Amino acid sequence: MKMKAAVVTQNSDGNVDIIEREIRPLETNEALVEVEYCGVCHTDLHVAAGDYGQKPGRVLGHEGIGIVTEVAPGVTRLKKGDRVSIAWLFKSCGACEYCNTGRETLCRTVLNAGYTADGGMATHCIVDADYAVKVPDGLDPAQASSITCAGVTTYKGIKVSGVRPGQWIAIYGAGGLGNLGVQYAKKVFGAHVIAIDINDDKLALAKEVGADFTINAAKEDVAKVIQEKVGGAHAAVVTAVSRNAFNSAVDAVRAGGRVVAIGLPPETMDLSIPRIVLDGIEVVGSLVGTRKDLEEAFQFGAEGIVVPVVQKRTLDETNAIFQEMRDGKIQGRMVIDMKASCGCGNH
Ligand SMILES: [Zn+2]
Ligand SMILES: [Zn+2]
Repeated sequence: MKMKAAVVTQNSDGNVDIIEREIRPLETNEALVEVEYCGVCHTDLHVAAGDYGQKPGRVLGHEGIGIVTEVAPGVTRLKKGDRVSIAWLFKSCGACEYCNTGRETLCRTVLNAGYTADGGMATHCIVDADYAVKVPDGLDPAQASSITCAGVTTYKGIKVSGVRPGQWIAIYGAGGLGNLGVQYAKKVFGAHVIAIDINDDKLALAKEVGADFTINAAKEDVAKVIQEKVGGAHAAVVTAVSRNAFNSAVDAVRAGGRVVAIGLPPETMDLSIPRIVLDGIEVVGSLVGTRKDLEEAFQFGAEGIVVPVVQKRTLDETNAIFQEMRDGKIQGRMVIDMKASCGCGNH
């Protein structure tokens, strides 16, 4: 049986080739997933461009959702018909210091979907049965796709920020991640939310989904406005792929504030040592989320508390979506609809 997939080009030029490839037989503890939807994430752009190392031929995609159609002998955790995720945390060792202390995303031998393992931007994907997280009933699969990376990453980032009900949190970047971040911060964590972006349309959408106020970073000095208006945020979560946003976040929090980095520009940020020491500022990274985090993030989606904004596209449009993403034109999340993409007539 063959699958259709978006793979990194041979010269890793930032685009994908849409190819057909034979589906290999399942190995121990694996399951075959017929992919329904796969969201497009900014990280896919970096993998396609070879920013984290050349990966020619790799199937992209770590926001996959699909239905299990086959399981390897002995697999009991998943069965045919289950709806599951294909997430950045594709598989970890399950035995190391990190895996055993609730930090499995930091496992040193982790495999990541769409980067070090073939991912979900394809009609089919082979997953490890222990790491594919079940999607709860009542959650739309296209929306679940967006929660698989953008949702769980912001949900976990806000958890890590330690923000408490009634406190102020600044969310930098109001795109695919930021929009969900605003919703989780406001509706799940009960925080007051400031959304920051350079695009007024994205800010309008952030306001619609719960931001208390918004700031356009291209027009105003964000840190100054936040310090003046609320005395500095208690926490900031930076989803924007821009070093300016990271630098601004350090200036936007109040003394004792925590800045959580989840966006991934391949750059360095400035850190004023006096600012860090004298004001007790913490800067920490947060990487996607554990399987448990994803289960929780899904549940808030299933309950309708958080509603991802998604737009369905086809696999053949992947390079066009990448360009729209580079141009900053995307509202919410672009999600590839595999049934509309395959054309095999078997679904
Ligand atoms: Zn992602
Ligand atoms: Zn491990």
